[in-house]
Amino acid sequence: MAAEIRTFPCLSDNFGYLIHDGATGATASIDAPEAGPIIQALEREGWKLTDILVTHHHGDHVGGVAELKRKYGCRVVAPHDKTAKIADVDLRAANGDVVKVGNLLARVLETPGHTLDHVSYVFDAEKALFAADTLFSIGCGRVFEGNHPMMWESLLKLRALPDDFRLYCGHEYTAANVKFALSVEPDNPALKARAEEVTRLRADNKPTIPSLLGEEKKANVFLRADDPAVAARLHMKGAAAADVFGELRERKNKS
Ligand code: ZN
Ligand code: FE
Repeated sequence: MAAEIRTFPCLSDNFGYLIHDGATGATASIDAPEAGPIIQALEREGWKLTDILVTHHHGDHVGGVAELKRKYGCRVVAPHDKTAKIADVDLRAANGDVVKVGNLLARVLETPGHTLDHVSYVFDAEKALFAADTLFSIGCGRVFEGNHPMMWESLLKLRALPDDFRLYCGHEYTAANVKFALSVEPDNPALKARAEEVTRLRADNKPTIPSLLGEEKKANVFLRADDPAVAARLHMKGAAAADVFGELRERKNKS
């Protein structure tokens, strides 16, 4: 039986995600921005929450953890938190660990930069990447606790995943990301195609997620800081990829 994934909005622009293993009935929530919409989604499906897989310590990703744990007695998996304390954690996830959700296997990739503790969860068999605030569609997270080379290395880890994997990210930021990306690469055909698709989806009030990783590799300028064409667009010919990435990130911060 294949895994089922549900996507729904939480807070103002976070995504809630449930992944369900039909064979065992296990269900994981990826992060817990707030309990209400997650409980509603579980009740809609008739699923019981068994696990929460936390990506990082920010409040908009852990705000619902305590309430969900009280209600369901679920296991909380979270990265080792180097800055703040994530409460109610049962299992600490480190790079290379494989976490079981029923029969489903989630591989842990440490992807620091946005925060120092940030991890992403990769369900290889399901071809699903939960990247939270490291990689967004046509963008990436702000670099709050790490530095630009660290964030670039994290993005390279995610870029190494196969093209047919789907990206499930932490926020619905795609339209704003597209606008910025077009200012850097107005003639990128993959980006222009994605821009049209995003306009259509948003007009229908539909999420822009998931997106295909193979498409992100072509359209997302933040995944292509080592592309000489991107360096040239920024008048940074020959610069190190991490520096090109840093310049992109700084420009986006100011946009
Ligand atoms: Zn965050
Ligand atoms: Fe966030």
